[in-house]
Amino acid sequence: MLWLALGPFRAMENQVLVIRIKIPNSGAVDWTVHSGPQLLFRDVLDVIGQVLPEATTTAFEYEDEDGDRITVRSDEEMKAMLSYYYSTVMEQQVNGQLIEPLQIFPRACKPPGERNIHGLKVNTRAGPSQHTSPVVSDSLPSNSLKKSSAELRKILANGQMNEQDIRYRDTLGHGNGGTVYKAHHVPSGKILAVKVILLDITLELQKQIMSELEILYKCDSSYIIGFYGAFFVENRISICTEFMDGGSLDVYRKIPEHVLGRIAVAVVKGLTYLWSLKILHRDVKPSNMLVNTGGQVKLCDFGVSTQLVNSIAKTYVGTNAYMAPERISGEQYGIHSDVWSLGISFMEPLQLLQCIVDEDSPVLPLEEFSEPFVHFITQCMRKQPKERPAPEELMGHPFIVQFNDGNATVVSMWVCRALEERRSQQGPP
Ligand code: ATP
Ligand code: MG
Repeated sequence: MLWLALGPFRAMENQVLVIRIKIPNSGAVDWTVHSGPQLLFRDVLDVIGQVLPEATTTAFEYEDEDGDRITVRSDEEMKAMLSYYYSTVMEQQVNGQLIEPLQIFPRACKPPGERNIHGLKVNTRAGPSQHTSPVVSDSLPSNSLKKSSAELRKILANGQMNEQDIRYRDTLGHGNGGTVYKAHHVPSGKILAVKVILLDITLELQKQIMSELEILYKCDSSYIIGFYGAFFVENRISICTEFMDGGSLDVYRKIPEHVLGRIAVAVVKGLTYLWSLKILHRDVKPSNMLVNTGGQVKLCDFGVSTQLVNSIAKTYVGTNAYMAPERISGEQYGIHSDVWSLGISFMEPLQLLQCIVDEDSPVLPLEEFSEPFVHFITQCMRKQPKERPAPEELMGHPFIVQFNDGNATVVSMWVCRALEERRSQQGPP
């Protein structure tokens, strides 16, 4: 048994410390250390040696609050790590959160042929063989790594999300690209939505996709689905996101205008946020608008990774009823094209795709809907992309202004009632 003394953190001395030793590409091992005298750097290396007998571990790393990796090679550096860790524990205690274990990432000394000059361990596995050792990336330019080191490392190196930690439950739906599952993330106890897409692509492309997805960590908006991580296993990528218990809008039949108005406000805010990050959604449609019983509305499946979009497009080349005419005709895609899809998402696509290109835009019947709503949809669906409202105009449109009251209860009650109805129609399980 190992004992630990914590200098200034005497209040923590009696607590058990759980050190989570992350194993490249295959989960983690939790090691419980009881409070007491000195935990030495060598003790940690000893335990790592038992967990990873094949590797010669000379150091390990931990992550600071920015996700930057800090190397520990001595007792001094160990103390600094423990000080930092206990300050985060105190914060978690004050906020009434669950105490996270101290995560460490062993750094193995590699033979020269396998040396990874960037210190990156890429969380991908190649091809059909069950190759479990870390795959090393030497081909990434070092400047691009520096630029985004924290996020990139978060995704690539620490395997925050991995298959071993996930228990798949129900299938939430199939799309053209893949299947979405409701899943349980065992270490955190969180329920996730995991989208699994089969992609037969090279390791290089896998790495490119992973680095392109890093921007999702930066997306921080209550109108955008939360991103928890992504990983490749063999020829499939799993993308883990927040689970929305109301599902997507496509399964709801008729949405009353006062509810739709609030949903539209959230969608416009989500799109405006993405556009501010220079991200075009590229797939605005009801199945990519998710709702929950808390009344939140969030966008998902936006095209942050060109390579992922391209790789999926190789197996599925398609148009859909929500695409703007200029896109169906293969012309340039821009914010205006997202705006069209926003408009058509809020009316049933009545016309055939060809009509959208060749004929007048469909309009909503004024006798059934309010004037501001019909005007909003008509403006979003102007044939000429430039005539559609710009992002700032969307937020100022009377229809959006009218419903921009932050009233989540309206959506929440409607989602709950609709789920209730669906359940009663389905009958007992
Ligand atoms: P496409 O592949 O053309 O984008 P799609 O959006 O219907 O079509 P998927 O993105 O694979 O297909 O999603 C399938 C279904 O899974 C969705 O229609 C939605 O109902 C459900 N779903 C997706 N993400 C979540 C989530 N985060 N929470 C709850 N349900 C989700
Ligand atoms: Mg989708």
